[in-house]
Amino acid sequence: MLRPGFLSVVSVLTFIGFPGGTTSLLRAEDAPETICTTTYRGSWRILTSANFRISTRSSKVPLDRLPAVCESLRTALQAVWLGTDHADTWRPRCDVVVHRTLTEYTRVLGIGAGNSVGCATIRMDDGRVVGRRIDLRLDGDSGMADALPHELAHVVLADRFRHRRIPPWADEGIGVLAESSAMQNTRAEALRRSCQRGHVFRTRDLLTLSRFPMPNYRDAFYGQSAHLIRFLMERSRSPSQVLDFIDDAMTHGYETALQKHYDIDGPDALDRISWTPDSLSGGLNSVTAGIDLTSFSVR
Ligand SMILES: [Zn+2]
Repeated sequence: MLRPGFLSVVSVLTFIGFPGGTTSLLRAEDAPETICTTTYRGSWRILTSANFRISTRSSKVPLDRLPAVCESLRTALQAVWLGTDHADTWRPRCDVVVHRTLTEYTRVLGIGAGNSVGCATIRMDDGRVVGRRIDLRLDGDSGMADALPHELAHVVLADRFRHRRIPPWADEGIGVLAESSAMQNTRAEALRRSCQRGHVFRTRDLLTLSRFPMPNYRDAFYGQSAHLIRFLMERSRSPSQVLDFIDDAMTHGYETALQKHYDIDGPDALDRISWTPDSLSGGLNSVTAGIDLTSFSVR
């Protein structure tokens, strides 16, 4: 929980812990026209739209359409997770800093961010979001096409969880659901391999995890978190019920919240229900949330 009047800064790194992939360039032919101004400060080009301020020194890919993509993703993510309750214009705007190389990226975020492809940083003060920032790498394995919607999901969720931090499994599970279907399938495969190595969380342990796991458990962390969010969404009236469940769980505990929202007798029962042999042997890829979040992909 964040203490009233206490400035809290939360940075969430996104790791994609498998080799391969090709650099994806942003495509936004379908994005609506967005009013955007462009200014220059030294070698930086700064594109400003209603809710975003995008900074880059890159001439590697055309980023002129990036503000429109960001605005579209924000609208879509808010519509799914927050409804119309939190659709206010973002002030401050969300900064999106596009780094050309890993060197530039880690110069800002530190060497520990070296294996990540994106980072969302939220600053909270007394229940208000006073800072929103996303750092992205152009040279990541999957480019920005998956990292951008993933990080933006974290920023959108911060408007819903202003007084206390959403648990990591829920934050990351929802972030993964904003990625392309291809990336979600890749993560599901990585989870399956992690299970074969014996690197898998009990659901009870996943729910109470307070920090990022060691690298050999990261595939399980992302894969299981996304699987659990999908599982709950399939049993919910709407995505907002999942967030209400998370809210209740932080207040009253998972035993009470699972019983109240899903008639499930606690995390161990959830473990037995959600991790059936079928779900591990091939059902993961076919688990759908019932809402086409993959259409957010800008790949
Ligand atoms: Zn994330």
